[in-house]
Amino acid sequence: MKCPQCYSSQTTKNGHRRGRQCYKCKQCGRQFLETGRRWRYANDVKQLCIKMYLNGMGLRGIERVTEIHHTTVMHWIREAGVQLPDAPEAEEIPEVADLDELQTFIGNKRNKFWIWSAVNHQQAGILA
Ligand SMILES: [Zn+2]
Repeated sequence: MKCPQCYSSQTTKNGHRRGRQCYKCKQCGRQFLETGRRWRYANDVKQLCIKMYLNGMGLRGIERVTEIHHTTVMHWIREAGVQLPDAPEAEEIPEVADLDELQTFIGNKRNKFWIWSAVNHQQAGILA
């Protein structure tokens, strides 16, 4: 990790702040956080999570198995969904469908929102 002030690579780890690694420069004493690089998951990990979801596993369940945060998985599912062509109208509305509910929040805990997906087990695809 390079110092943002003097560009020295003589830095040491200096605890954590808000879940991010903190560093201290041995040369100039500047303290800094690890650069906001995003977590990158391999494509096969992503595909596996999407497969688990499509097979009826809930987002919390996927999180428990893979230890990948449910909002990350939710983001991948949404991303994959956008790329799909529009599904043809279902000829039959199934009598039984699976519902998956996810409650989370944006920004602060009071700003709750829910995502419901209805999955048809007779055909591939999400009903609503
Ligand atoms: Zn420095």
